[in-house]
Amino acid sequence: MPAGAVDPPRRTPAAATPRGCIAIASGDGVTRRLKTSETVARDVVHDIIARGLQPGDGLPSEAVMLEQYGVSRESLREGLRLLEVQGLLSIRRGPGGGPVVGTVDPSNLGRISTLYFHLAGATYSELFEAWVLTECVLADRAARNPDRNARAAAMAPYLDGDGAHEEHEELEKFVREHGGFHIAIASLARNRVLELTMQTMGQIVAHHVAVTDDPRVMRDLIADDHLRLARAILAGHANQARGLMEEHIHGIVGYSRERFGARMDDFIEWR
Ligand SMILES: [Zn+2]
Repeated sequence: MPAGAVDPPRRTPAAATPRGCIAIASGDGVTRRLKTSETVARDVVHDIIARGLQPGDGLPSEAVMLEQYGVSRESLREGLRLLEVQGLLSIRRGPGGGPVVGTVDPSNLGRISTLYFHLAGATYSELFEAWVLTECVLADRAARNPDRNARAAAMAPYLDGDGAHEEHEELEKFVREHGGFHIAIASLARNRVLELTMQTMGQIVAHHVAVTDDPRVMRDLIADDHLRLARAILAGHANQARGLMEEHIHGIVGYSRERFGARMDDFIEWR
């Protein structure tokens, strides 16, 4: 091709099926002034931490909080609602009700992420690619955790391969236990930023790739993968753990790809 020539525009799958998405760009999100409701939400979170409250603990009554934060009822309720949407609070209705401290759940972070992913035009294919990478990093870090007792405690439930082969195990239980293994690995990563953010990919996959048929075929494979991964992490073999995790997630992705078909190129839904 002569110098200065321009490559002809390539026809990407996205161009073949035109659809709108919004370019990823930084705005004034970090520097803009907070609304009153956001300031209240921040103050409530500050108080939860300062008072050492735990999931299930109640917050003061609305009357007390109105006095304490010096804002309108509307702003207080909007602020609490902001936290409720994130799953960080739940509001019990009725007599004796009120706001209750919730959990720090990566699936809620995953859920809000899907709003961004959807608008930016991110596809399920990209989600799976990111999921492989994040799980490999977590497995590597888990195996490098210097606390052998912590590794042994986290991996203990998964070192008994026989338990996972039960024929009539409920599907829901199976899916939950599969997720539990990956949560246990993330907990060994010794970095809460990575533990929270990197788990969001797997949480979104679990939530979006509906298990409509029984992945019985996958069960033995998964149980076997988990057993080998648990052993590698317990032994502190980081490279082996990373390699096994890559294989493991690729296996699940391959299976999901078949069932997802053309939807792999769909935008990730916000849900
Ligand atoms: Zn797994």
